[in-house]
Amino acid sequence: MDCLFCKIINGEIPSKKVYEDDSVYAFYDIAPMAPVHVLIVPKTHIASVNEVTAENSAVISHIYEVAAKLAKELGIADEGYRVVTNCGANAGQTVFHLHFHLLGGTKLKVEMC
Ligand code: 5GP
Ligand code: ZN
Repeated sequence: MDCLFCKIINGEIPSKKVYEDDSVYAFYDIAPMAPVHVLIVPKTHIASVNEVTAENSAVISHIYEVAAKLAKELGIADEGYRVVTNCGANAGQTVFHLHFHLLGGTKLKVEMC
């Protein structure tokens, strides 16, 4: 499949890995929007939130466990951070493999839209 993040997960395209387990891969964003900007992705290809179902949603709660763990490890848990996923054109999704941005290390803008 011609998917950038599938290629990153299988090592075809290099990335700066932060964390990996059986179902999740996390790596630094190539164009960080905050001092800490990590992408957390399921290893199975799910295009976006639109494709989340009862059959594949278990990985989403696991991603939030990983987000909490990484936030602590990266030193942003106490000051606060944002976990966000963009879905579709209006949200500015550019890579159609579900991913959660973990953003922190500074005071983030309050505006969400
Ligand atoms: P989206 O806009 O779809 O929510 O987020 C896609 C993110 O992937 C962007 O923040 C972008 O900087 C990041 N990104 C795009 N291509 C690459 C890449 O090749 N490597 C890494 N590490 N991040 C990428
Ligand atoms: Zn993919």
